[in-house]
Amino acid sequence: VKIVIVGSGAAGATAAQFARKSNREAEIVLLSRETYGEYSKCGMPYALSGVVDSFEKLIEYPPAWFQRMGIEIRPGSSVRGIDAPARSLTVGSPSGDEESLHWNTLILATGARTRIPPIKGATRPDGRPVEGVYTLRTLDDARAIDEALAGPKRCLIVGAGLIGLEVAEAVMARGKNTDALVGVVDIAPHLLPGMIDEDIARVVQKAAAGHCVPFMLCSAVTSIRQDDGIRAELHAVASDDRSEIAADMLIVAAGIAPEVELARAAGCCIGTCGGIVVDGRCGTSVDGIYAAGDCTEYKDFITGRLAAVGLGSVAVRQGRVAGTNAAGGDDSMPRGLLNSRTTRLFGLEVAAVGPTLAQLKQDGIEPIVGKATGSSLPEYFPGGMSITAKVLAHPDDGRILGAQVIGEEGAHLRANAFAAAILNRMTIEEFSKLETCYAPPVAPTFDVITLAAEAARMRWKRGASPAS
Ligand SMILES: Cc1cc2nc3c(=O)[nH]c(=O)nc-3n(C[C@H](O)[C@H](O)[C@H](O)COP(=O)(O)OP(=O)(O)OC[C@H]3O[C@@H](n4cnc5c(N)ncnc54)[C@H](O)[C@@H]3O)c2cc1C
Repeated sequence: VKIVIVGSGAAGATAAQFARKSNREAEIVLLSRETYGEYSKCGMPYALSGVVDSFEKLIEYPPAWFQRMGIEIRPGSSVRGIDAPARSLTVGSPSGDEESLHWNTLILATGARTRIPPIKGATRPDGRPVEGVYTLRTLDDARAIDEALAGPKRCLIVGAGLIGLEVAEAVMARGKNTDALVGVVDIAPHLLPGMIDEDIARVVQKAAAGHCVPFMLCSAVTSIRQDDGIRAELHAVASDDRSEIAADMLIVAAGIAPEVELARAAGCCIGTCGGIVVDGRCGTSVDGIYAAGDCTEYKDFITGRLAAVGLGSVAVRQGRVAGTNAAGGDDSMPRGLLNSRTTRLFGLEVAAVGPTLAQLKQDGIEPIVGKATGSSLPEYFPGGMSITAKVLAHPDDGRILGAQVIGEEGAHLRANAFAAAILNRMTIEEFSKLETCYAPPVAPTFDVITLAAEAARMRWKRGASPAS
């Protein structure tokens, strides 16, 4: 059996490893436009800030590692065409030659590219950014930003999501000059709009203010022109005001678009989010073709609707499933995406799982909300840190739908506990009574996650209007 994988990112590289684990005899070919093997995209902001002291350290599995595993990796190979009925790919090699490659099973792990919103003057006719405009998707992108930031540069960031803020913090951390970061612009009214609710985002914004990060929210960069650096036109949406900001570089971190050209050409079903539709076994609508990672969309556990995959955590899990199944094994994903997500920003750990309040409201659900702030240790014990948990539950049956946690540390583990509860369809009633660990130097008698559930339960029992 010959398994061909397109893309050696988190999804493709994991798929190759699991295909090999499941089938010692299979011929496995891993194709990638990039040359590094597999590296951590998630670590790139920290190589930019200097926390990780070189870009090379982000390379977790270099090409030689795959070769040792008996996986034929072909770095610098670009797949240019596909003939699904004939099970054949057209592959361009680094030397410029083209060849046909046959497969028995194919895994598309083509990832995504950064979406550049309509900013007049920001892109060339072929869609690539113009000089002075950067995106952060690949290691080469990160190196280009690093090089550009080496001098005293004023940097404007478009997008106050996870990547935009991680890069903002990295720019500040480099600390070459105080006005290194001109600002972070976002059309949304609050930070991390896809990840957390406004009240939790205010906590992050307050912490960012301590690091002198300027935000321009409810605003969009509509055009740029080159004039002794970059002049960006800023449109404040509510007031309709327009102003101009001078910067030397613009970093765009405003979301991603799945790479699906090959899948489309192969006849795979493309969903409403623009990704390849996959089932729980990572199968596509075309027999013998699997897909995994940011190029796909999969059912959301809470809404049941297809949702874009955009997390490394999901990409590796899908990679494992796709690789195992493509090699003749049998594995499957959980019944839907939970979107467990976390980061550390401006001294705070932020974590969330499931939809946000705004996302639930869009779906016509007015959830019951419970929120609690407590200490990570008993009040009398030294060293406790403040931590806030917020839970969102279904108004009909009290089932937990989502949660957000923020504090100096321990937020992600609490979000993980909520994730287990969501997956097991626990209610706020059951969760509020969860027996959590207790010992004075380790944890308080009632953890803040159960207190948040209790607050929601009380509201629910009182019949308070749900999301008020
Ligand atoms: C700065 C940053 C920080 C992030 N932080 C986090 C985080 O903290 N936590 C988290 O869960 N996620 C995070 N993510 C998201 C995570 O990195 C992605 O979800 C994950 O890398 C997706 O992996 P993938 O294999 O699907 O795609 P990719 O890593 O994009 O790999 C796809 C590969 O396929 C190649 N390819 C595409 N088309 C072809 C073709 N025709 N021929 C040959 N090769 C092709 C591409 O060149 C690419 O190398 C972050 C992302 C970024 C950019």
